[in-house]
Amino acid sequence: MRILVTDGMDKKALAQLREMGHEVVEQFYEPDQLGAALRDFDAVVVRSKTKVRAAQIDEAAKGRLKLIIRGGVGVDNIDVGHAADCEIAVRNTPLASSESVAELALAHMLSCARYISHAGYTMRSGLWEKKSYGKGFELNGKTLGIIGYGRIGATLGRIAKAIGMKIMAYGVHHEPGTVARDGVPYVSLDELLEKSDFISVHAPFAESPIVNAESIAKMKDGVVIINTSRGGNVDEDALLAALESGKVRAAGLDVWASEPTSNSALYSHPHVSCTPHIGAATVEAQARIGQEIVEIIKEYSK
Ligand code: NAD
Repeated sequence: MRILVTDGMDKKALAQLREMGHEVVEQFYEPDQLGAALRDFDAVVVRSKTKVRAAQIDEAAKGRLKLIIRGGVGVDNIDVGHAADCEIAVRNTPLASSESVAELALAHMLSCARYISHAGYTMRSGLWEKKSYGKGFELNGKTLGIIGYGRIGATLGRIAKAIGMKIMAYGVHHEPGTVARDGVPYVSLDELLEKSDFISVHAPFAESPIVNAESIAKMKDGVVIINTSRGGNVDEDALLAALESGKVRAAGLDVWASEPTSNSALYSHPHVSCTPHIGAATVEAQARIGQEIVEIIKEYSK
């Protein structure tokens, strides 16, 4: 197969693909050039930077492209329906990054509880603001509400339980009053909003924000909100207003409404712990993503 890799890939997996006899080209294309370039490839491997929309798919369909692989979970950068209409398969690597993203969510929770992000920033600016960070709090004993209890949400649940948190979960496919396989109770969204000290969002990209002014109003005063899912799941204006008023005590954000984000009022807020969409950016997750991609290519090159 001729395979185009646009946003980088684990080196070992690249070598494996070449050893299997595939021709692999590593090259990023701007959106207006990507479609035409794809005509000469059987498969393309993207991460989140490359967007494969209808325009690129229409061009690619004039050539030999049969497979789009998203190295990662969310396929919101690919027009999946249009690809299907053009008989181009879309695959992702859903299993590879759950531990890494869950650990980053936990890191943001700890960062919010102890001001780690902002304290690091002020120390590097030459300041010693010990008194400003005197009202930290523990995670132990607090309630964590997880919105979207799939692979990543449940992984976070397992880790957070181990440090003494009480967990409750809400998911559109889970009936309130039932329990997950690990014993975590499913509750209604309203119950989760009302009872949680921390709320972490792990749902796929939703058509409209799950965390918005209305849902924030139902939350406990001083709640901490974590989002490592998709930026669009949180209304950034509503979150900023709630941080300003103190309704939301702190927020940990890895994903943004548009990326790279230009919302400096939000990312530079002293109570925001921020990262530039690095949830799956670990050596382990990237290696696993690489292996999942190799397996998918094996399937399609039989
Ligand atoms: P998953 O499919 O295993 O789990 C998602 C869960 O959310 C499911 O249980 C589903 O029933 C539930 N759900 C769907 N829509 C919902 C809604 N509107 N409200 C509440 N629950 C809803 O997915 P996953 O692998 O756990 O990934 C979760 C999220 O993490 C996705 O948004 C994905 O794009 C994101 N992600 C981010 C990074 C990163 O780098 N930050 C990396 C990987 C995945």
